[in-house]
Amino acid sequence: MFNAALQTWDEDTRQAHQRARFDAMAARLRADNAFYRAKWASLPPDAPRYDALAALPFTRKAELLADQAAHPPFGTNLSADLTQYVRVHQTSGTTGTPLRVVDDQAGWDWWAECWRYILDAAGVTRDDVVMLAFSFGPFIGFWAAQEAVGRLGALTLAGGGMTSAQRLTAMRELGATVLLCTPSYALHLAEVAAEQGLDAARDLGIRVTVHAGEPGAGIPATRERIETLWGATAYDHPGASEVGAFGFSCSARAGVHINEAEFIAEVLDPATEAPQRAGEPGELVLTNLGRPCFPVVRYRTGDVVRARERGVCACGRTTLLLDGGILGRSDDMVTIRGVNVFPSAFLELFNGIAGVAEHRLTAYRADHLDQLHVEFECTDAVDRRAQVAQIIRDSLGIRVSLAQCPPDSLPRFELKARRFFDRRAEGWQPARGT
Ligand SMILES: [Zn+2]
Repeated sequence: MFNAALQTWDEDTRQAHQRARFDAMAARLRADNAFYRAKWASLPPDAPRYDALAALPFTRKAELLADQAAHPPFGTNLSADLTQYVRVHQTSGTTGTPLRVVDDQAGWDWWAECWRYILDAAGVTRDDVVMLAFSFGPFIGFWAAQEAVGRLGALTLAGGGMTSAQRLTAMRELGATVLLCTPSYALHLAEVAAEQGLDAARDLGIRVTVHAGEPGAGIPATRERIETLWGATAYDHPGASEVGAFGFSCSARAGVHINEAEFIAEVLDPATEAPQRAGEPGELVLTNLGRPCFPVVRYRTGDVVRARERGVCACGRTTLLLDGGILGRSDDMVTIRGVNVFPSAFLELFNGIAGVAEHRLTAYRADHLDQLHVEFECTDAVDRRAQVAQIIRDSLGIRVSLAQCPPDSLPRFELKARRFFDRRAEGWQPARGT
């Protein structure tokens, strides 16, 4: 296990490690970081410390965006002269203004170090040939993964600027054994392989897939579908440009571990902001410890998670385990007649129905109540509306308005699948007859 001492420690050792890291970082931020100096200006000088973390204000993405708008191009969340910085990336947000994130060399090394934990947990070794099916644009995505794969000593195959067909050819010719991409794209790439008469599981030698960018690989039905199509073991990795590569699934397939060597995790009740009990869903709030060049302290991720009671995972790690990984976005929750529904529930549901290829969800409001319009498309012309309505009623306990679309009419995604549209504030209604 990579850095085993930092993943199998007891509670006291974890807290001592996090305390030392956080307190040293906080002292540096008070001295060098204008954003946190301003944020903490009204606190006593010794207040930003680990043992009083809960007293510190949250950091929100909107604040970082406003700060960058007021102090272009990078804002004030910097702890060194700009000449020290070596990497610029921006968030892949499907809506709104992207946030720029910058790293100095130490920050970039830290990203690669965090990815080593992920690759190690997935069993990737220096003997592997790793295909990164990723566009290598401004989104940080798998850039840091590529850095880490290189440092591990495995062969990296950068699949940017290639069509799916070209990626498949490269994977076959170079003997790729590991595939890194979004879960949606793994499903799509297997579809493309099938169109070419290839069976991904039989004809390509992929043994491990690691997925980021969307929660799909943490959803059992999606994970099983990827594993069946590829004949591989699929691993989940949640991360965020502004926070870091903070989590990964393990061989025990129990959920997602937080890398507590490099991150402090809190799970809060989104309404009261009080710590949430183990087993109850709450918002994940993260503090990164190794990126003082672009830090976040008590960052509201908006991700809904459910932490397990602390203990030893079957994989041997004692770090915090999130059951089922990221369960959804706190702002994507739709309440239909008292039932809280996350769009990710539909991903799981549709992946379990043979013949359904894509779907799209639109939240709207009728009679002041949340409603959901669900569009889906199949690989054939069979009318599945009654079957799908029944499955939604049985598994989620809700009724939705439903439309079956013609094959290949809904968009496909390489990065950040966007299948949920919130139009509750717009007065939008689905067309009659759907
Ligand atoms: Zn584990």
